Amino acid sequence: MKILISADMEGATGVTWPADCLPGTPQWERCRRLFTSDVNAAVLGFFDGGADEVLVNEAHMTMRNLLLEEMDDRVAMLTGRHKALSMVEGVQHGDVDGIAFVGYHTGAGDEGVLAHTYLGNSLTGVFVDGVRASEGLLNALVVAEYGTPVVLVTGDDRACEDASGYAPQARTVAVKDYVSRYAAVCRPPAATAAAIRAAAAGSVTLAVRHAPAGPRERRMEVEFDAEHLAGAATVVPGVEQTGERRVAWTAPDMYEGIRCFKAVTTLVSAAVEEWYG
Ligand SMILES: [Zn+2]
Repeated sequence: MKILISADMEGATGVTWPADCLPGTPQWERCRRLFTSDVNAAVLGFFDGGADEVLVNEAHMTMRNLLLEEMDDRVAMLTGRHKALSMVEGVQHGDVDGIAFVGYHTGAGDEGVLAHTYLGNSLTGVFVDGVRASEGLLNALVVAEYGTPVVLVTGDDRACEDASGYAPQARTVAVKDYVSRYAAVCRPPAATAAAIRAAAAGSVTLAVRHAPAGPRERRMEVEFDAEHLAGAATVVPGVEQTGERRVAWTAPDMYEGIRCFKAVTTLVSAAVEEWYG
């Protein structure tokens, strides 16, 4: 039994503001230890529950945040950027029985600690077939195309609520409670690690690969906070401007949908100026 962990940092224990998860800052140096504690707790729990193989895919910013030297020695870790499936890289080989979203957060436009979808700013909403989507929902739709169920989600309490929509069967662990986008009531790592480890162990029975969801056309829409960003996004073939600050495109499946979304966010971030956006 093989488990993949997609590890994002905004939803980690103790993380509540941008510098906490901005590589290179003193706050990040501290918080990456808390993040490593969450991820390692999930690793230990999955092995407790009977997994034979656990692969951690780093999914935050530079994708170089976790401290490998502090992880359980049975784990394998995929570190670094530029991967075909980004946050869920590794699922496409068809041998992953279950996936965990550790350190996840709610999407752009929603309540939640450090809520966003891919870009920290500029993007006010992402929609798939008319439904507002978080990174968790987007990635859950991608992994469903490979028959892999989401078995565990950790983050703030809002991220756990969000998961009940896209993966109702998954175990969830709230490591902090939302107060504002930059404030939360946090639990210490000793407490959150114990809760994550127990939930991961209990979720292993949910890790049963099913028939891959067949290709299904998806209508993707993105809303920005400025009109010129919508214009910038239309450089991507197939992406059309559908409103003053909105673009949309139709993808044959989620694999293509998420890859096009990546192209859109890359182009748009290059079109953002420091002060006027
Ligand atoms: Zn992140």
